[in-house]
Amino acid sequence: MKDITGRNKTNMQLDNRSLLLSLIKNNENICRKDLAELSGLTGAAVTNLIRALVEVGIVSEHRDYQGTRSRNAISLKINYEKYLIIGVSFRRGSINYGVADLSGKVLKRHELFLDLDQSVDHVFTALSTAIDNCLEEFAEKGTIVGLGLASPGPINNKKGQISFLTNVEGWKDVPIKKYFQDRYDFPVILIEAANATAIAEKWFGCAQDSKNFISVLVSKGVGAGIVLNNNLYYGNAGYAGEIGHASINYNGPLCQCGNRGCLELYCSTLTLLKRAQAVYGTKLLKKIDDLFRFSNGNNQELINLVKENGQYLGYAIVNIINSFNPELIVINSEIKHFGDIWLQAINSSVNSRLLPESFSDIAIKYSALDNDPVFLGAIAMVCEYVFNKPQLGYFKEKEKITS
Ligand SMILES: [Zn+2]
Repeated sequence: MKDITGRNKTNMQLDNRSLLLSLIKNNENICRKDLAELSGLTGAAVTNLIRALVEVGIVSEHRDYQGTRSRNAISLKINYEKYLIIGVSFRRGSINYGVADLSGKVLKRHELFLDLDQSVDHVFTALSTAIDNCLEEFAEKGTIVGLGLASPGPINNKKGQISFLTNVEGWKDVPIKKYFQDRYDFPVILIEAANATAIAEKWFGCAQDSKNFISVLVSKGVGAGIVLNNNLYYGNAGYAGEIGHASINYNGPLCQCGNRGCLELYCSTLTLLKRAQAVYGTKLLKKIDDLFRFSNGNNQELINLVKENGQYLGYAIVNIINSFNPELIVINSEIKHFGDIWLQAINSSVNSRLLPESFSDIAIKYSALDNDPVFLGAIAMVCEYVFNKPQLGYFKEKEKITS
């Protein structure tokens, strides 16, 4: 049967409301007449939709209009600060969590030092307590509109589960979304870590004006968040962008996934660290930061390892550029401490293997986000959810969400 969704009046109202909120978000000093012109909706429809948004409190009216309309026009603004989001970024070794407002401004951020090799129950109980404390602390400061959970993948989006975590016992088919949704009465959104970085770039970073871009996250694993026509591409179940398991050497070593020569075996932070440790020992080099300090910018042997790492990543990036023809590739990793050394290695590897006209048409750059981009992505994902399907119930003060 074809996957067809009819458009009833409620859907259309949500879409129109979403459109108006986006226009207000992206245009300062906008009034109802501007909204009608930009949206193509009638003046009466805009008036009705805006009235409801003002009533629930997400939009406010201001007498400081300075545009080209009549001086009596009223400018409309979004009350970002009245609405709060809880964001959680799972990592191996610690969990970042905190509170931001609907503009993405981070109001509180904490790190919970929990090893994911502890039991799922233990980790979830500790995290629930931390979230409960946030809710209590911010109870009078705004309305919670959602909880964003970002985790290393693969994530099964259909089931709301972490499918498995490599190198961590017991974390298999973990029903994380259900656990937290059963506990809280606001929407809970689950997102894979690399996808989270893509959404963070789209909302707060360097991809705000890009419709087709890819965010590459190189940590202990490697993943890509693919945005096509402004939407995150999940694939069938949510596994799209698992480029860490794309082979760059079909005769290479066997990977845990069953494939051979996977990118992760050549280019993760773990691989780089292990290769450096093989030369300099494990005492001196425990994490990527140590590597950077130790290299002091001129240790040629270490620099060559970093360049080789970038070269391998470049091979995989060529494949994703040839598959998706994006306008921008954004790279997030601790390895960016090495600055131009790593980025130039990536660029020259891509340049040497891509059609010249494709290479001249694409930008490959580091993320400019200075906070944990996965944590910001968990926040951004809730922003996206709320702005895409803005049900009025989300915005009513301290009222339970029923649908
Ligand atoms: Zn693999």
